[in-house]
Amino acid sequence: MSAMQCREFRDIADSFLREELSDKPTHNIIEHFESCAACRSELAARRNLRERLRAACASDAEVRPEFVEQLRLQLRAAGAHNTFEKDARRGSEPDPL
Ligand SMILES: [Zn+2]
Repeated sequence: MSAMQCREFRDIADSFLREELSDKPTHNIIEHFESCAACRSELAARRNLRERLRAACASDAEVRPEFVEQLRLQLRAAGAHNTFEKDARRGSEPDPL
């Protein structure tokens, strides 16, 4: 079995985003990423949430812990399809902002 499975991809996607993976898994994840549109969207959604979480942490004093916790739960929920479907739908429409 040479091709990485979606489940395997999702298991290590967060490590990939934290740049904690060594060369070989990184190669595998990129290979899967390039051949699987679902996982491309998944990774984009997770990266987006991570960046929002990081931004929230960076602006520290103003941010309540509950807010950060909420973002963390969203990040976890990114494994479900809600987040990226919402993003995909938004991508096809004019941005209201
Ligand atoms: Zn996949």
